[in-house]
Amino acid sequence: MSGGHNFREDRDSRVKNRYFHKQVGFVDEYGRPSCVGCGRCIEACPASINIIEIISRIREEVKV
Ligand code: SF4
Repeated sequence: MSGGHNFREDRDSRVKNRYFHKQVGFVDEYGRPSCVGCGRCIEACPASINIIEIISRIREEVKV
């Protein structure tokens, strides 16, 4: 974050916050996820995490 702030010290809580914000919190607030599936984060991810594939799998498993 700008200014060097880190409100979530551990990686797990940062990942959890990111996914919940985009896929749950935003849906609750605005009726749709904030991820538009553009794939830019997939190209930039150093761990090759594919958010679109992960969300698709989760939605399939929980039938959201
Ligand atoms: S695919 Fe990644 S970069 Fe694109 S909107 Fe979704 S989270 Fe953001």
